[in-house]
Amino acid sequence: MKYDVVVVGAGPAGAVASEYAARFGARTLLIEEHASIGSPVQCTGLISTAALRVCGLVKGSFALAKIKGAFVYAPDGEELCVRGKDIKAYVIDRKIFDRALVGRSLDEGVDILLRTRFTGFSKNKISVISGGERKEIEASVIIGADGVQSSVGRAAGIARCKKILSGIQFEAPYAAKDPEFVEIFTGKDIAPGFFGWAVPFGGMARIGLAKNPDDFPARDYLGKLLEHPVVASRYRGSRTEHVLGGIPLGSPDKTVKDNVMLVGDAAGQVKPTSGGGVYMGAICARIAGEVAAKASRKEAGLEEYEKRWRSAVGKELATGMRIHKSLGKLSDHNLNEFMAFLNRPEIRQIITEYGDMDHPSILLQKLISSGNTKRLIKLLGIAFKTLF
Ligand SMILES: Cc1cc2nc3c(=O)[nH]c(=O)nc-3n(C[C@H](O)[C@H](O)[C@H](O)COP(=O)(O)OP(=O)(O)OC[C@H]3O[C@@H](n4cnc5c(N)ncnc54)[C@H](O)[C@@H]3O)c2cc1C
Repeated sequence: MKYDVVVVGAGPAGAVASEYAARFGARTLLIEEHASIGSPVQCTGLISTAALRVCGLVKGSFALAKIKGAFVYAPDGEELCVRGKDIKAYVIDRKIFDRALVGRSLDEGVDILLRTRFTGFSKNKISVISGGERKEIEASVIIGADGVQSSVGRAAGIARCKKILSGIQFEAPYAAKDPEFVEIFTGKDIAPGFFGWAVPFGGMARIGLAKNPDDFPARDYLGKLLEHPVVASRYRGSRTEHVLGGIPLGSPDKTVKDNVMLVGDAAGQVKPTSGGGVYMGAICARIAGEVAAKASRKEAGLEEYEKRWRSAVGKELATGMRIHKSLGKLSDHNLNEFMAFLNRPEIRQIITEYGDMDHPSILLQKLISSGNTKRLIKLLGIAFKTLF
């Protein structure tokens, strides 16, 4: 078998990258180690309307619920209501969503091999185990879209992401206060370094948390989340659809090497403020597919991908990482003070107007330009100063 571009991993990033490689004229193969697309699911499935647009999908049967805002709970229990002006996001069924994305890439002429695992490569030959048999596939360009543990990245000798949060989640019946609002829970007892969540859809919720990698396992914190008075009053018992997964933050310094490029979680293209990876991954995957196709015809070098994706989202990811680090340093006491500040009517107004789950830097800039720099530095500490 011989292809211009082989994409490893049929998650959202791989599907979009292969679609764009084919669209830009490359003979493209997509390989996936599992027997079906979109399974197992490792996602809460909260996808912004902008992410849907970038993925080239309109709201379809994968959309389970619409989301207009969030209730954010400080460690002391104070509730901050962040209300958007219109629909901000959808809760989706990732299996159906991923299949819709792969469907688009097949429509573009991409070949697909399921039950086919990448095991290594040398120069232009990829080794796979496909349906139990060892095979080799020739490829001019290899795109590693194989997720947080990227074996393509490892085989190419590309460094790993800077940090991997541990996430855990399950689904359960849940009597949400408002089914159009997600709930976010903060505090060191619940999710050190990140947050817990309940994302409602159809009388159920995806309840989970992500946390710093360097303390107890994520499952040890679930009990505390379920004991939170808000969750305890809404959670109706029983659990299904358990998920355990890593969330990579902070891209390696290089995401291309020789004829290999990484995209999506494999490249750490994940928002450090929310852990969402579909939106940024899809933006970068479009660029990856286009550049890979051109590179296979020697019309571009893979460095063009590195330059273009960093210019598209690099600044937003870097700002997100600094916000993530600053918030992670706060004690629960400081977090309570910070949330009380955000809860002031004039600040809530700014959040309503400019809050954007994909681009927190916009809100940050507005908070700064509204004359709150000193207050923010006082609340968030000196580490935050580097943001201004
Ligand atoms: C608990 C949790 C909740 C999350 N919630 C959200 C959310 O609400 N919104 C959001 O946007 N993001 C969320 N994310 C992140 C999101 O799931 C990822 O960013 C996204 O799936 C990344 O897409 P990807 O295509 O890069 O990788 P993946 O979706 O991980 O796809 C990689 C694919 O590669 C395949 N693969 C791996 N190795 C090989 C191999 N050797 N050979 C062949 N195939 C291989 C895998 O089987 C998989 O299909 C969450 C993550 C976790 C852990």
